[in-house]
Amino acid sequence: MLVDRDRHFDVIVIGVGGIGSATVYELARSGNDVLGIERHGIPHTKGSSHGHTRMIRRAYHENPEYMAMIDQAYTRWEQLEDEWGEQLLYKTGSIAAGRPSCDLVSGALETCHEHSVPFEKIDGESASERFPGFQFPSEYEVVVQSDGGFVRPEAATIAHVELARQLGATIQSETKVTSWESTIDGVKVKTEDGQYKADRLVIAAGAWIGKMVESLEGIVSPERQVLSWLQPNNETHFTPENCPVFLISDDDNIHYGFPTFGKPGVKFGRHYHLNERVDPDEMDHSVNEHDMEVLTQSGEKYLNVSGEDPFGFETCIYTNTPDRDFIIDTLPNHPEVTVLGGFSGHGYKFAGVIGKIAADLANGKDPEIDISLFEIDR
Ligand SMILES: Cc1cc2nc3c(=O)[nH]c(=O)nc-3n(C[C@H](O)[C@H](O)[C@H](O)COP(=O)(O)OP(=O)(O)OC[C@H]3O[C@@H](n4cnc5c(N)ncnc54)[C@H](O)[C@@H]3O)c2cc1C
Repeated sequence: MLVDRDRHFDVIVIGVGGIGSATVYELARSGNDVLGIERHGIPHTKGSSHGHTRMIRRAYHENPEYMAMIDQAYTRWEQLEDEWGEQLLYKTGSIAAGRPSCDLVSGALETCHEHSVPFEKIDGESASERFPGFQFPSEYEVVVQSDGGFVRPEAATIAHVELARQLGATIQSETKVTSWESTIDGVKVKTEDGQYKADRLVIAAGAWIGKMVESLEGIVSPERQVLSWLQPNNETHFTPENCPVFLISDDDNIHYGFPTFGKPGVKFGRHYHLNERVDPDEMDHSVNEHDMEVLTQSGEKYLNVSGEDPFGFETCIYTNTPDRDFIIDTLPNHPEVTVLGGFSGHGYKFAGVIGKIAADLANGKDPEIDISLFEIDR
């Protein structure tokens, strides 16, 4: 669509991926004339918000401080489903398994205790009997929480964009932003085929955020991830009715995965995969023998799957901060610019909440949730 270049928008959002699409929607919902600019199609597979499923959980081992956002995340997904008329959130329950002393299990228990989240703690053998898709070592402890599940990133991105468009938002896809600058009356955003003006700017450029915001370049590190879809030995063990979303810690890594959904096979990955820091423009999106071996071998160790004939592999990008907490803030010298980034492999479940916070910040309102954990200068 050709956008009138003389039009002065209320807000421009750079990046209409997982978080940017929710932000465009929340801005349009709060009455703003908003332009979302995305360099690829919507949705696409070159960033961080594809692959059919993203986990949502209350037994949040990362940090109990996320609980206020988690509560709101569930509410936002349910609201979006009502408004869009399609199921986007599936509650399968969640599992966090590992040795009793590991950060995953102790962190999940800490959050559950601190926020009175109901949970069960069972041993590895009982968990393997109850969930026959798994083969946990008997010395493992397994925290089972019934609210866990997954959301659908591609479907939700479409829902956010279409609902925003119905509210009057303008979306310009296949358009790369080359630079932005503050002006006397707001911001100017330059793209490969023209420039746009607005009062305020939100930058939600995912793995490219360091290229859009100079001061973040040395802070965020994009990292190559690889996902596998493994062949179950028994399909019924891995249906969303029988298989919770799962995180399994061994001495070196956390593995994670999902019941079969959206495409054949059990989705299985290793958090931080091979710790490969990348330039997102140069990243190798192909999958090599070593990637495959790492995932099929660990998959066979913990799951009732065959490493032979996997259904497929995909790459994706994490954008990590040093402490793995997000960046949600206005830029210190540019209060008219909000940045949303560094989601460190656990941000998608919060897309709706972050979109709402971003809309509040852009509208000069205090967000309902305390976001001091996500300040740039923390
Ligand atoms: C393998 C994997 C598994 C994950 N699992 C989970 C999970 O289970 N649960 C969970 O909550 N989170 C999970 N995450 C994290 C979560 O998916 C991400 O944090 C989230 O999707 C990031 O969204 P984003 O909008 O920041 O990035 P993206 O969706 O990549 O969006 C950024 C957009 O900006 C666009 N862009 C960049 N530069 C420009 C430019 N110059 N001009 C115009 N557009 C531009 C990009 O094209 C892109 O579309 C996972 C991530 C990965 C990679």
